[in-house]
Amino acid sequence: MTYSAPIDLRSDTVTKPDDRMRAAMAAAEVGDDVLDRDPTMRALEERAADRLGMAAALWVPSGTMGNIIALMIHLRRGDRFLAAKDAHVLQNELGAPAWLAGGMPTELPCELGPGRMSPETVRAAAGTAGPYYSLRTSLLCLENTHNAAGGAVVPIEEHTRLVATARATGLRVHLDGARIWNAAVALEVPPAALTVGADSVQSCLSKGLGAPVGSVLAGSAEFVEEARRVRKMLGGGVRQGGVLAAAGLVALERVGELAEDHANARLLADGLAEQGWLVQRPQTNILLAGVPDLDLALQRLAGAGVLATPMAGQVRFVTHRDVDRAGIVEVLRRIEKEDVLRNQTAAR
Ligand SMILES: *Cc1c(COP(=O)(O)O)cnc(C)c1O
Repeated sequence: MTYSAPIDLRSDTVTKPDDRMRAAMAAAEVGDDVLDRDPTMRALEERAADRLGMAAALWVPSGTMGNIIALMIHLRRGDRFLAAKDAHVLQNELGAPAWLAGGMPTELPCELGPGRMSPETVRAAAGTAGPYYSLRTSLLCLENTHNAAGGAVVPIEEHTRLVATARATGLRVHLDGARIWNAAVALEVPPAALTVGADSVQSCLSKGLGAPVGSVLAGSAEFVEEARRVRKMLGGGVRQGGVLAAAGLVALERVGELAEDHANARLLADGLAEQGWLVQRPQTNILLAGVPDLDLALQRLAGAGVLATPMAGQVRFVTHRDVDRAGIVEVLRRIEKEDVLRNQTAAR
C-alpha cells in the first residue's frame, strides 16, 4: 500500500470490508431472522459459540447492545455490579447499565497492572449478605483486552482466579470480550480458553476483524434464548441479517491475522520511543503515549496526516488491518517530519 491521505489510527473500528468480505456478503443465503431465523445468521452464531467455548451465541448489531442485553438479564433493579476502573461498561455506554439494566455500578481499582483487578479486591467489594436494606452485589464484569488500559491482556490464570472468586462470593460473570480475539492471539491460546466460567461473553466482529457491523453475545442455551427476546425488545432484531452475518463468518477466519496488528503496534511504539515519546509497550493493538500537551499533540498529529484519539489523558493509537507495516513506517516518518513534540516542555 502507498499512503498519501491521512492515516487513520483512531480505532480498529475504521476497518472496511474488503472485496472478499463484500463478495461473501453479496452471496449470502438469507431468510427472515425475526420470523424463523436466517440460515447465515444461524451458521455464524454456531461458529461464534464454538470459537468462544459457549453453548450458544446471538448476533447483535453492536458490542454496546451485547453488553446491555447481558446486564439486563443478569441484574435485577437495585443490584450492584463490579467492573474494573475505566471499563467500557462504566465509561463508554452512556450509563445504560444503570438506567436500562437498573444496576448500581462500582468501579474497582486495578492493583495488578493496567486493567487487572485482584481477586482480593473483588472479594472485598462483593461483601457478604447484610440486612434486607443492604446492597446486593450480583455481577462481576470483566474486560479482556481492557481498552482504556491500552489493550491490556488479562492472563488465563488471573481470569480463572477472578471467576473462582466471583463464584465463591455468589456473583455471576459477564465478560466484555470486545477484543477477546486480540487477547487470545497475544497469549497464543484459543479464545475459548479465556471465557472459562463466564456466564456470558460479548465479542466484536466489527473491530480488528474487519466486519462492517456486528458483535456476538454468547452464553448458555437458556441465556441466549432470553437474550434473543431482549434484543428484540431493544429493536435489535434484524430481518435478512445473513448479509451481515456473512461478513462475520469471514471475520472469524481472520483472528490469526491480528498478530500483524500487534507487531505493527510494537513497531510504532519502538519508533516513537526513538523519537523521544513516552510510550507504554503495547500488549496488543492499542498503544498509549503520554504527551505534555494532549490537545496540541493531537492537533499536530492531524496536521501531519496521522489520526489518533485521546484516551485516559494520553494519545491512543490503534493498529489494524487497513494500515500495514509500510503504513506504520509512513506514520513514523510523518511524526518525525512534523516534530510533533517540539516545544512541549511539561512533564515528559
Ligand atoms: C468497542 C467496545 C465495546 C462496544 O462495541 P460497539 O460495537 O462500539 O458498541 C464494548 N466494550 C469494549 C471493551 C469495547 O472496546
